[in-house]
Amino acid sequence: MAMCRMIFLRRFSSISSNPLRVCVVGSGPAGFYTAEKMLKRHEAAQVDIIDRLPMPFGLVRSGVAPDHPETKIVVNQFSRVCHHERCSFFGNVMLGSSLSLPELRSLYHAVVLAYGAESDRSLGIPGEDLSGIHSAREFVWWYNGHPDCRNLELYLKNTQKVVILGQGNVALDVARILLRPTVELATTDIANHALATLQESSISYFRKVYLVGRRGPAQAACTAKELREVLGIKDLYVGISESDLLKTPADEEELKNDRIRRRVYELLSKAATSNQSSPRSDQHELHFVFFHKPDRFLDDGHGHVTAVRLEKTALRGNGSGKQIAIGTGEFQDIECEMVLKSIGYKSVPVDGLPFDHQAGVVPNVRGRVLCDTSGESAIEEGLYVCGWLKRGPTGIIATNLYCAEETVVSISEDIDRGVLVPSLPKPGRDGLLQLLDDRNVRVVPFSNWEKIDSEERRLGSLRNKPREKLATWDELLRASDTNQLC
Ligand code: NAP
Repeated sequence: MAMCRMIFLRRFSSISSNPLRVCVVGSGPAGFYTAEKMLKRHEAAQVDIIDRLPMPFGLVRSGVAPDHPETKIVVNQFSRVCHHERCSFFGNVMLGSSLSLPELRSLYHAVVLAYGAESDRSLGIPGEDLSGIHSAREFVWWYNGHPDCRNLELYLKNTQKVVILGQGNVALDVARILLRPTVELATTDIANHALATLQESSISYFRKVYLVGRRGPAQAACTAKELREVLGIKDLYVGISESDLLKTPADEEELKNDRIRRRVYELLSKAATSNQSSPRSDQHELHFVFFHKPDRFLDDGHGHVTAVRLEKTALRGNGSGKQIAIGTGEFQDIECEMVLKSIGYKSVPVDGLPFDHQAGVVPNVRGRVLCDTSGESAIEEGLYVCGWLKRGPTGIIATNLYCAEETVVSISEDIDRGVLVPSLPKPGRDGLLQLLDDRNVRVVPFSNWEKIDSEERRLGSLRNKPREKLATWDELLRASDTNQLC
């Protein structure tokens, strides 16, 4: 074991004897853009990226829909970052269990937390824990082969009606995966277990999906490209009530100031008028339900969801130029066998990390972590944040470019101001690997992720897919074959 560690440490030993040692936690877009910008801006920086999974790329691998391959091309750029001589990736290292935040901070001059949002907002209404109700995140992780959701108990085989709560882009992603002909998904990198389940269920059932928004078509949270895609699904019946499209002066005012919302509204209007009047009996159906908010979930008597009770809403201005949904006391039930809550992701703190539970973010000023949420508190020296953990779960992959730039500028300013002192030696990478080795943590470096990658591509080529994702911890760790390092 000791010999193995020596080889391991030598392989990852420092280029400069006294570099600025930075650790980025989380290897999604926010983490990689931070690492890339640090390496460019600071020629003496040595950057380590750790991730709790044995593989890198976070949301690009586990969040981006399988039928959006063009969005995933960015992993080539991220892989180049990992091959940089001053950068390393260490997978299967979990902050909070492999090592604590204070331990990590003691090893590095700067720690940047970019581990995203791996939990879900809840509705806080009766029946939310019935079986058949899942977060959209869990469903997305399931079809994207995330090992934590490989065994998610979905009742898709016996499901004819699905209610999706929320009308953002994640809601549209999951609706599209449920409704797209499976033959079109078969050549994507969708996880095989998900494809098989969807294929089986689409043979037995014609599926009805309800996309429920608490506000109207002028406020729908999705973007035009994603909406066009779902409306364009082959042989899909789309139901939109024309009466929902009537605009109030307040809607006109909102739309006037928002080009994206205008485009979305136009697409919905066009779909409402151009679709057939009623569905054929053999057609998949997508129904947009506006102006309704979830009130409770109804039980079938055996602990499984049988319907969602919705309360009709009316919109009221809240003084900010936006309108909010208020319940009217009028209720309607939609029967269903499955519900996907797509109302937003949620970040989770680790021990010792200041956290604003209300906003679901780490309190920060331009990426510098604050000691508490009071707004007047001191800065946690050497601790930074980026991505969804910093600004909440919104924005596309490229939004993280600006977010990372801001955090890296803060780090640079702190070096200039003498808050961060690179000349004070820190153990950095060697210290991290020593500590993980002492705890028998089976670290997966980038070269071993590349073994997983090759195996997935090989399996994919057998099925005419870009890759067949390994979707259990065991399969991933076996393919990563870390023992080969010794
Ligand atoms: P989102 O865009 O914030 O949408 C959340 C949806 O949930 C909204 O319709 C919101 O309604 C609704 N909602 C929130 N709380 C609710 C409640 N208590 N009751 C009922 N409805 C509620 O979030 P998201 O869809 O999870 O997407 C996250 C980010 O990732 C977004 O910025 C999105 O654009 C991005 N994304 C992009 C792509 C892509 O580019 N292809 C794909 C996926 C995700 P209100 O509007 O009324 O609040």
